[in-house]
Amino acid sequence: MRFETVLVVGAGQMGAGIAQVVAASGRSVALVDAAPGAVERALAGIRASLEKLAAKGASLDPDEVLARIEPAADLVPADLMIEAIVEDAAAKKELFRRADGLLPAEAVLASNTSSISITALGAATARPDRVIGMHFFNPVPLMELVEVIRGLETSEETASAIVELARQLGKTPAEVRDFPGFAANRILMPLINEAARAVMEGVADAESIDRVARLGLNHPLGPLALADLIGLDTCVAIMEVLHEGFGDPRFAPCPLLRQYVAAGRLGRKSGRGFYEYGQTA
Ligand code: NAD
Repeated sequence: MRFETVLVVGAGQMGAGIAQVVAASGRSVALVDAAPGAVERALAGIRASLEKLAAKGASLDPDEVLARIEPAADLVPADLMIEAIVEDAAAKKELFRRADGLLPAEAVLASNTSSISITALGAATARPDRVIGMHFFNPVPLMELVEVIRGLETSEETASAIVELARQLGKTPAEVRDFPGFAANRILMPLINEAARAVMEGVADAESIDRVARLGLNHPLGPLALADLIGLDTCVAIMEVLHEGFGDPRFAPCPLLRQYVAAGRLGRKSGRGFYEYGQTA
């Protein structure tokens, strides 16, 4: 399997990063988003990121990389789709169903989902052997790991091709099985949830909880600053998948997280979460 052309669906913080690393590897990218102006904002962010990397000595030409990213108004044919839309199972299933009808039969359909069942996304298509999880980490250009998640019906050929692609993008793949939250978020989200619970219970404020994790546990970033980076809406959505998938009350999303999301405090992307970032954050 060769992935010369890649369709990235969703141009938020993850889709933009994915489009950037795929284009930087020499492939052609089509980038699409349902929200007006989202692709243009993503392209401006990609330019800023590429210029920063180039200034730090990376051997890339921002104009050349950007020239390989084509904005698209809707799904277009490609060898590979990487989906990075909102963490909502119904929206993702609908997208996979549509993509199955529009992309060539041999194309692979990958999802960057943090927690939603790859098997269920595969079942929304007539090609479950070619549906796979390709889970990047935030910020995509800097983070080395890609979790590669095989659904129940994902073929060996598809999995090997995506593992190889991850390496070609300069990433290190980790293969995991399709259980709620896969490996990374099954470990991370309970930590974030418990940190939010500690704030809610008045154990300590957000700064103090994060300081404990950084200086006492040697985490590079505290769990609440990381939650703001991920997006509190995404964190709640992942906790809901873990909660429902395992049927275990210990995975219930913390009410304070839900309250912040209801208030529009989504973290960095909205300018405010556990911390304040200002309008342009
Ligand atoms: P985001 O909110 O920044 O971006 C999502 C984008 O998808 C938005 O621009 C939205 O307009 C668009 N969108 C929504 N529905 C769409 C549709 N039907 N068709 C086309 N575009 C649509 O979210 P994000 O943080 O980039 O997360 C995207 C995905 O990546 C989620 O599945 C999330 O769980 C996963 N993920 C997030 C992180 C993280 O740290 N934020 C890390 C790994 C994986």
